[in-house]
Amino acid sequence: MKNMKTKKTIRKVLVINSGSSSLKYQLFDMEKGERLAKGLVERIGCGGPADHAAALGQVVAELGNPKDIDAIGHRVLHGAEVFKDSVAVTPAVLAKLDKLVKFGPLHMPANIGGIRACQRIFKGVPNVAVFDTAFHQTMPDCAAMYAIDPKYYKKLGIRKYGFHGTSHRFVTLEAARFLGKSPSKVNLVTCHMGNGSSLAAVKNGECVDTTMGLTPLAGLVMGTRCGDIDAAAVLAIMEDGKLTPAETDTLLNKKSGLLALAGSSDCRDICAKAEKGDKAAELALEMLAYRTALYIGAYNTIVGGADAIVMTGGIGENSSEVRERIVNRLGALGIKLDKKANKIRGKAGTISAKGSKIPVVVLPTNEELMIARDTAAILGRGK
Ligand code: AMP
Repeated sequence: MKNMKTKKTIRKVLVINSGSSSLKYQLFDMEKGERLAKGLVERIGCGGPADHAAALGQVVAELGNPKDIDAIGHRVLHGAEVFKDSVAVTPAVLAKLDKLVKFGPLHMPANIGGIRACQRIFKGVPNVAVFDTAFHQTMPDCAAMYAIDPKYYKKLGIRKYGFHGTSHRFVTLEAARFLGKSPSKVNLVTCHMGNGSSLAAVKNGECVDTTMGLTPLAGLVMGTRCGDIDAAAVLAIMEDGKLTPAETDTLLNKKSGLLALAGSSDCRDICAKAEKGDKAAELALEMLAYRTALYIGAYNTIVGGADAIVMTGGIGENSSEVRERIVNRLGALGIKLDKKANKIRGKAGTISAKGSKIPVVVLPTNEELMIARDTAAILGRGK
């Protein structure tokens, strides 16, 4: 009987994304390839459930007390250099995760708390950790290292890690299929553009560079994050306002980007304002498009010529306006927009014109499905 249990097919996979004060979940039937349920528990520890275990209790109730969940996949923010791939959770893995809290003091305790709560609530059900950083672990040192004294890398692990890796990996696989190429031969620039945004340079299916860094603050102009900034400018701001590191962190992560430039972190609001002639909103959109185009050009060089530019995330999948502003800056690469095709929203399609030298494609991301697939694959018995 014992053997029969270990050979059980992984059919129903619960995917958990625990944030600092929220918990999102999705339940998949991997045999049918269907999503069975989806939900969100909010205000954990601040008015709602007391902690992640209580939030999970709510999830169990919402799912009708299921007894047939075969495995649980967890989104984990940071795997540092320890986890280069998704991994089945064991006591040794949990001990290693505990040591990585310093890389994500806000998110990692919630991620780890979610895993521990699942172990208690879903007794005997295996857990898999899927890392936002893992896909980027193939970056060469010349892309990943900062030009500072190497002792800071050795002592503190300060280097570029990159995030949104599960999304970049998902759309890489989707793009290979869309283009009819082998995933291990495809060269891409993948643009995940949402409230947080990052680009990845993908060569032969592997990440060789990405715009986020030690933390998700670096790179593109985002909803509330500034993206790339001269470190000396940060020092000048700290000195002027006598800001602590924590206050500066809040300023750059939560009060910058589109919000600081034009009064809203939501791209739809900024587009609506720009449409009405708001100059600050217009500049914010141009800054966002400019920096994105800058990196697309750079990454096209790094991958040795992309087979496609891929757009995904809330903005990439839906905002014709932002896509047009980006693609209009890529003329030097022989890229031309098909304005009609660019009206596409939330589904896969090519938005570049027929004669475009490099196709630009929109491909909806699905991080939760990627986590569910990894979970089934890692446990070795799923589809
Ligand atoms: P995400 O973080 O991937 O959920 O993306 C959120 C961002 O996508 C926000 O800035 C939204 O304004 C933007 N977004 C979502 N839907 C649309 C839409 N229909 N048009 C323009 N932007 C959109």
